[in-house]
Amino acid sequence: MSAAQTMKGNRRRLVERSGHDERTLVRVGDVAIGGRELVVIAGPCAVEDKEQIFTVAERVARAGAQGLRGGAFKPRTSPYSFQGLGEEGLKLLRRAADAHGLFVVTEVLEPAQVELVAEYADILQIGARNMQNYALLRAVGRSEKPVLLKRGLAATVEEWLWAAEHVLAEGNPNVVLCERGIRTFEREHARFSLDLTSIPTLKRLTHLPVLVDPSHAAGAREKVPPLALAGIAAGADGLIVEVHPQPEKALSDGEQALTPEGFARLMEALGRVAWAVGRRAPAPQSSGTEREREARHGDGVGVRGRVAA
Ligand code: PEP
Ligand code: MN
Repeated sequence: MSAAQTMKGNRRRLVERSGHDERTLVRVGDVAIGGRELVVIAGPCAVEDKEQIFTVAERVARAGAQGLRGGAFKPRTSPYSFQGLGEEGLKLLRRAADAHGLFVVTEVLEPAQVELVAEYADILQIGARNMQNYALLRAVGRSEKPVLLKRGLAATVEEWLWAAEHVLAEGNPNVVLCERGIRTFEREHARFSLDLTSIPTLKRLTHLPVLVDPSHAAGAREKVPPLALAGIAAGADGLIVEVHPQPEKALSDGEQALTPEGFARLMEALGRVAWAVGRRAPAPQSSGTEREREARHGDGVGVRGRVAA
């Protein structure tokens, strides 16, 4: 056992890879996160209105996303910024996702909200600012719903794994880790620095799946695709990406939101990078027969719902 794995004689019993022959597959409906097929979750930073969320859901589903993201309860730096639509946002998100066969990922900010958010969401997101909110980690640990645990803004990989251990220790084994960039001295050219090293590190240390959020690291639309592809090349199990139908009008994080067209282009490129690293990218809808797709991508683009070996 390395010194890093211990904390005053304590040891992470549940998130460590040792003792686990198998990698954890986190299942959401007919999608499995952590298998050979990559999982892509896309959508706006925040749910703003019906038109916005239904448009995004339709466009990202068509491009191949399996999950819809969107905040209804937003953690904002300023108390005067848009804080989200609350339960109304959750309802819209659920309806838009159901209309297009997507699962729902949305953030829960406090323990008292877990029950409400879990009524509408398929995956409970713990935001970077709450990664060490142990009361919240325990509350989602008692939920039946899978948890997407973002890395804290200034958290080490060790602290992040301990945070995951809290969720597992409460009885919830379905945790997906999400690298979203950390605070470094670089502030001008990146909102946060995407720590690509964490991906192979986590693959060695834990059996839990790992996603990359290139949007919050990049802070700027044009940097999102290269970071997304680099994350997949480094071994991530999928992506969570911000997409907005009119980024210039977004109520939060518009500068980093891809347009639906930009997202579709990223999904095309993802197919090629996935193939290069022995993974499958989710297939766009109405992109021809499975045979045509296989012809285009060599060993075949993943088919929605098929669980990878
Ligand atoms: C978000 O996903 O919109 C978000 C607030 O992310 P993070 O917690 O990583 O900043
Ligand atoms: Mn955001």
